[in-house]
Amino acid sequence: MPVLRIIEPHGFCSGVKAAVEAAFKALAAPRPDGEKVYCLHELVHNAMVVDELVSRGMVFVQSLAEVPRGATVLFSAHGVSPAVREEAAARGLRTIDATCPFVMRVHREVRAYAARGIPVVIAGNASHDEVAGTAGEAPAGGVFIVDSPGDAAALPLPRDSEIGMVAQTTLGTGDVERIASALRAVFPRLRTTDAASVCYATRDRQKAVTDFVLSGGQGVIVLGSPASSNTRRLAETALAAGARFAARAGTMEEVEALELPPLEVFGVTSGASTPEPFLVSAAARLREKIEKAV
Ligand code: SF4
Repeated sequence: MPVLRIIEPHGFCSGVKAAVEAAFKALAAPRPDGEKVYCLHELVHNAMVVDELVSRGMVFVQSLAEVPRGATVLFSAHGVSPAVREEAAARGLRTIDATCPFVMRVHREVRAYAARGIPVVIAGNASHDEVAGTAGEAPAGGVFIVDSPGDAAALPLPRDSEIGMVAQTTLGTGDVERIASALRAVFPRLRTTDAASVCYATRDRQKAVTDFVLSGGQGVIVLGSPASSNTRRLAETALAAGARFAARAGTMEEVEALELPPLEVFGVTSGASTPEPFLVSAAARLREKIEKAV
């Protein structure tokens, strides 16, 4: 009989837990009648979490211009740039900062490089909120974003430049290492610290998936929203480790639509922003589907 194992660790990381708690606390705090609590961008990249907060009255905005003067705004776990903080102060907004400490560590590193006039390379996706916030810590012209090893040679910097590297916290562990190697090959004076690697939660969840596959796991289902970088990386990690099947599902409808191949050992995991109750429900349904697929 085929089996479905729950891969550990999975689900909420410490940064997401803290951000969600901060959001519920803000919503529960007394405030004048009718006054809303705003959140700049998605608090975390999970539609269920966002929908739950919307149902409790949180208003998600894409820019501070949408927030009335003097209102309360939450900054998400992904962090914001200093320019956003300044704009919030200029508009008299009350801010609640849910930036994850591991993202703050990356910001600190960028500020330190910038203070010494060292250009910074961010390994990451330019359209991700976290990368936009991180990039804002360096002066314009002093920060470069690369999302693949092939980008290294095209950087408009002298080959003998001293360069500081940091990374988006939710990339693939191997992808970051390959970008660092490519950068070092072009720029021998590349500097890296812990801020040039993924965070512990991303690393541990990817390692758990790799270990599962290397110990005989054949198929991996990753639960989480498509916007979640670490969720997408978990599916890629499974395939890179040799899984014969890997798929993502963010809703019960997507779980229902999965076409599972007739394999013997499946695993289920979830991204760092995926609520545990969803994993419990999805795993129960997946077990039924897996038994039928034999
Ligand atoms: S994935 Fe890592 S950096 Fe992002 S919120 Fe979680 S612990 Fe923080």
